[in-house]
Amino acid sequence: MADKSVKILIANRGEIALRVLRACKTLGLPSIVVFSEADRNTLAVKLADEAICIGSAAAADSYLRADRIIAAAELTGATAIHPGYGFLAENARFAEICNDCGLVFIGPSAQAINLLGDKATAKTTMQKAGVPVIPGSNGVVKSLAEAGRAAEKVGYPVILKAVSGGGGKGMRVAKDSGELLDAFQTAAAEAKAGFGDASLYLEKYLVDPRHVEVQIIADSYGNVVALGERDCSLQRHHQKVVEESPCAVLPEDVRKKMTKAAVAAAETAGYTGVGTAEFLYEPSTKNFYFMEMNTRLQVEHPVTEMVCNIDLVAAQILVALGKRLPWKQSDIEIHGHAIEVRVNAEDPTRDFAPCPGKVQFYHAPGGPGIRVDSHLYDGYVVPPYYDSLLAKVIAYGEDRETARRRMLMALSELTIEGVVNTADFALALLQDEHFVSGKFHTGTLQELL
Ligand code: ADP
Repeated sequence: MADKSVKILIANRGEIALRVLRACKTLGLPSIVVFSEADRNTLAVKLADEAICIGSAAAADSYLRADRIIAAAELTGATAIHPGYGFLAENARFAEICNDCGLVFIGPSAQAINLLGDKATAKTTMQKAGVPVIPGSNGVVKSLAEAGRAAEKVGYPVILKAVSGGGGKGMRVAKDSGELLDAFQTAAAEAKAGFGDASLYLEKYLVDPRHVEVQIIADSYGNVVALGERDCSLQRHHQKVVEESPCAVLPEDVRKKMTKAAVAAAETAGYTGVGTAEFLYEPSTKNFYFMEMNTRLQVEHPVTEMVCNIDLVAAQILVALGKRLPWKQSDIEIHGHAIEVRVNAEDPTRDFAPCPGKVQFYHAPGGPGIRVDSHLYDGYVVPPYYDSLLAKVIAYGEDRETARRRMLMALSELTIEGVVNTADFALALLQDEHFVSGKFHTGTLQELL
């Protein structure tokens, strides 16, 4: 669809800027990539139709500057903005500003982002819609005493979580009342520092659950389709390390109910675009609980693309431009199994300390079922200012074991000379008996470290 009146500005960097750029090129849509002074030499900038500098290295002076991004859009004649993930992707005010300036924000409406962005309010809304939620406080706990009362009601252990949180930050577990004060204070301080909002809510802390999330996409005509689930239980400090689709341990009846709940969540929020309903699943009881809805493209979207055989980013752009979803729920078929590993510029032997630096030599693996989403090239300098993601290696197979074996091959072939990274760590993890057997939970990786 070469629509000459559409021009997309990509307001992000790294692998995701490249991923969105590729979708634009596939659709025949011209695009502009914005960049900070530290990102002048990134692959997305080199490959873009146009690129424009929006400020200095610090994200606060560039990728988080709505005014400069809008100015760049006006200067280049962009008609739509893709925010990628992170930075302004879940910022309702930014979505609103785009719309006020006559630009299409490629994501849900500001209203939906607002509703779902406040995690405590989102839970209450979902509960009303009949979606099972984790027992906890009714909204924000304003004081330690209030947290104590909520904790007694649901029973220990409990988790305090930032209302505006994300990326695993601003949450602390209290095993008993003696730990509550410290958990409350640390979570609030981290929330304030990370999100400028110290508000917390409280939940029962589920023991050994799986993190299972459902990908949805909705158009602006009320059609919502679920695109299978992803298991993201292997986490370090509540941050995902390995993701796969489908979840290896989800019974079919639970899958159906979870899918229904995710679609109901999207419908309740008046959702449009791609989104992810995150759940915690307890294999012992077969119960699952809604945690939150992420109102953006996820880092781990490729595993869904592989098993559904669709280009999720292209579909996201098309629905934002007002197109109807090309499929009904009954058209969606999940085939085979896909695994994604995040390779970061971090040193596993030094508590995963970030290791920016110059890539002396880069070689991406290939072969049947292998996909690598990465912005690396020989000589690229990984800057110290942003997240440490270097590459996402995705392996597909007709079954889980085939995908796993292909991943082992791919990770041992991947070469990133000059930058210390987590590829070997992931290679070991994928050979660990927990991963091989599929018997793991959200705490497993942390226990193995
Ligand atoms: P974020 O948005 O910061 O990623 P989430 O709410 O998605 O935070 O939670 C991230 C991870 O934290 C989950 O995948 C899970 O491992 C853990 N977690 C969050 N809430 C609970 C809970 N109530 N019980 C057990 N683990 C939890």
